[in-house]
Amino acid sequence: MEKPDLDGRTALVTGASKGIGRAVAVKLADMGARVAVNYNTSDAAAATTVDAINARGGEALAVQADVSDPTQVSEMVARVSQAWESVDILVNNAGIIDDGLLVRMSDNAWNRVMATNLNGTFYCTRAVVRGMMRNRWGRVIHIGSVVGIRGNVGQTNYSASKAAIIGFTKALAKEVATRNITVNTVTPGYINTDTVDVLQQEQKDRIMTWIPMGHFGEVEDIAHMVGHIASTKSGYLTGQVISVDGGMAI
Ligand code: NAP
Repeated sequence: MEKPDLDGRTALVTGASKGIGRAVAVKLADMGARVAVNYNTSDAAAATTVDAINARGGEALAVQADVSDPTQVSEMVARVSQAWESVDILVNNAGIIDDGLLVRMSDNAWNRVMATNLNGTFYCTRAVVRGMMRNRWGRVIHIGSVVGIRGNVGQTNYSASKAAIIGFTKALAKEVATRNITVNTVTPGYINTDTVDVLQQEQKDRIMTWIPMGHFGEVEDIAHMVGHIASTKSGYLTGQVISVDGGMAI
């Protein structure tokens, strides 16, 4: 039997206590990677992700850190590297929303979203890329959003944070390409998670008219694409923004 594709590799998935991050963590573990499950506040939910991976025969470690704090990020990466030597695959998934029309948007709502979604991506990537360069192998995968491409009323902060990740992806892909490190962004559309559950039915009906496929996606749809990009067979795929959104960004 062939060894699992990511056997011997280590992954760090931020915001893996629930939603898309949990599905990505489980997927990478199923592909043979050891997975560090980052979370900020949800200890019990992170433990559920770790248990799910262990129950399937995988290896996982819960690592608490607020990705918007560079010191906590450095400590987290040091902890994972101490346990497993290196971080070969980074999935920058942790993200928040704090919606409001621009004219009423507070500095705090703007800064909080930028700090987690954009600065968090920067801090986590910077903390792992040196090791990837040394090992001459790496996968950096960001979770953006269709909203970073199309924009959305009430989400200037969120759209800006996710659009910035696209520029970050392309610039870094060029910087590290010769070291065998790929950098890509997956941009989900509306995916059935806690974030989408809280929308009013009226909002859901309106959003549905924007989706050619006529339904929301599942967390596994995103996990599948992340697994594809992380695969050892995807070494020539870099600098790309891949929409998994039922056609919403067309
Ligand atoms: P979710 O269910 O709300 O989960 C968010 C995760 O991020 C949680 O594990 C949370 O951990 C973590 N997190 C939040 N702030 C953090 C911080 N400062 N430091 C570390 N972890 C933090 O989110 P989701 O809907 O699965 O979304 C995941 C990603 O996909 C986000 O980047 C989101 O923007 C993007 N996305 C989602 C959709 C969608 O339809 N759901 C669509 C497009 C893009 P704690 O609970 O422990 O704080």
